[in-house]
Amino acid sequence: YAATGRLPAASEVDGILERARERAFRHHEGKVADYIPALANADPEVFGIAITERNGRVHQLGSYDHAFSIQSISKVFVYALVCEVIGHEAALKTIGVNATGLPFNSVMALELNGGHPLNPMVNAGAIATTSCVPGNSAAERWEFIQSGLSAFAGRPLAMDEDVYRSEALTNQRNQGIARLLNAYGYLKGDSDETVDVYTRQCSLLVDAHDLSVMGATLADGGVNPVTGKRIVGEQVARDALAVMATAGLYERSGEWLVQIGLPGKSGVAGGLLTVAPGKGAVGSYAPRLDEAGNSVRGQVAAAYLSRALGLNLFASS
Ligand code: GLN
Repeated sequence: YAATGRLPAASEVDGILERARERAFRHHEGKVADYIPALANADPEVFGIAITERNGRVHQLGSYDHAFSIQSISKVFVYALVCEVIGHEAALKTIGVNATGLPFNSVMALELNGGHPLNPMVNAGAIATTSCVPGNSAAERWEFIQSGLSAFAGRPLAMDEDVYRSEALTNQRNQGIARLLNAYGYLKGDSDETVDVYTRQCSLLVDAHDLSVMGATLADGGVNPVTGKRIVGEQVARDALAVMATAGLYERSGEWLVQIGLPGKSGVAGGLLTVAPGKGAVGSYAPRLDEAGNSVRGQVAAAYLSRALGLNLFASS
């Protein structure tokens, strides 16, 4: 299928999706995140998966409509929205695009790089990105993000208040990262306010279907294939996919790219987004995580789908 730019017939994709779930369910390892107290309540057995094709066709099964907080997957879309405003060159210069090889909330990565964030897929770069969101107040900046991510999803997204409050009370580490960025001159605006907006963006509720539509918008060069609306420009969509490929699964990003061969982005609630540029995207939810904070079953399903659908970008046939 790789060469045709399309996925196989609908019934075939449905069967392949079923087999991806079977593979995923062979895995029981990993742990639900608990460093944000409200996330520890997640049911580890819930599994939902959806594919949205570039032509808008959808395939989904399991708890594809089960809501969870988007967490780090928001980083991709806020980055795209910010790139649209500040432009490719400024984003490259102020946020960076290189992998850290270190955990998502690493302070060391920032220190080793002279205080300059490394990329928008880990917390330091994501917080720097959020600080670039346009607006005269925190409320306006939050509105920009909420409506922008909703446009990617093609429906209004709401915040999980419990997750937001729970993280806001326990995110001293992110506050520390923001202050360091500020001290080095790489944060635009107030550090506590930026972390608050960042914490809100991580608390937005999505389901596996939403993630697949959001990802398919990037696969489609910035046009939401369901609503038909252009959300970001083509180059911005390409840039966002490139940074996902570099650093979307934190310190496991290299292993992911070699195994799956597609841009991906995980979140600690258990969401995982995999994008096949020009073709479509897979969104999944399965809350048990590996040590880097990536959904175990989501990765297994993505690996199977990449193979079965011939999506690996590095494959010659
Ligand atoms: N809100 C989380 C944090 O900043 C997101 C992290 C993640 O999903 N890896 O700690």
